[in-house]
Amino acid sequence: MSTNVMTRPAVLILLGPPGAGKGTQARMLEDSFGLVQLSTGDLLRAAVAAGTEAGKAAKSVMESGGLVSDEIVIAILRDRLGEPDCAKGVILDGFPRTAVQAEALDALLSETGQKINAAISLEVDDDAMVARVAGRYTCAGCGEGYHDTFKQPKVAGTCDKCGGTEMKRRADDNAETVASRLAAYHEQTAPLIAYYDGKGVLQKIDAMGQIDAVAEGLAKIVKTAAP
Ligand code: ADP
Ligand code: ADP
Ligand code: ZN
Repeated sequence: MSTNVMTRPAVLILLGPPGAGKGTQARMLEDSFGLVQLSTGDLLRAAVAAGTEAGKAAKSVMESGGLVSDEIVIAILRDRLGEPDCAKGVILDGFPRTAVQAEALDALLSETGQKINAAISLEVDDDAMVARVAGRYTCAGCGEGYHDTFKQPKVAGTCDKCGGTEMKRRADDNAETVASRLAAYHEQTAPLIAYYDGKGVLQKIDAMGQIDAVAEGLAKIVKTAAP
């Protein structure tokens, strides 16, 4: 244990295509490590619901399965990263998704003297992702994620976490849009795997297993990368 080095809040990145399990695993890491999940998808959906300028610009892009402009996403992430709870350390879920975003993140972190502890790539087969995304729904009350087949609440229709009974599905979680989202992942986001490998922070994990098995593997990585 070093005593003379100031500890900076941990920064973990989860990379992976839509449906890989980034959100599910980020919430589990929040619970077990006291970190804060930053999902640019959630932040964008909130902006759309609130009808902000950024939300208005993002809405149709999200519906079509494309990527929202770097400018909008970076601004949203920068604002969120500046909030006090992020001092606990963050798990970036769905950001960065382009080279421009990755470079902007490096610049933001260098301002605060922070560094990326690990960029963890959730490795999955594209074929399985359509089924994961098509069966996904979340609790409207607390955001807990569920799946028609792979993660059902203990009592049908009732959230395990908060007892809420209103569940919602995303407009973009359909087979047609998933194809565009997977294509965007391969073209624009997958190259970041090499980017983080070059920085010496890349970790890969097999994310085809069951949710708890993936969580166990991730916990080991996080314990080592962000002790
Ligand atoms: P992402 O945030 O990467 O898009 P999610 O965490 O929302 O992915 O997971 C997509 C869907 O698949 C959700 O319905 C979730 O319950 C389910 N899921 C997550 N991880 C697994 C897994 N390892 N095996 C089976 N289903 C999973
Ligand atoms: P998933 O969980 O399936 O990976 P997200 O909830 O992370 O999806 O993102 C939903 C949509 O929001 C994306 O398809 C994209 O349009 C937009 N989005 C989210 N994060 C980003 C980002 N970092 N850059 C550009 N667009 C983004
Ligand atoms: Zn709930």
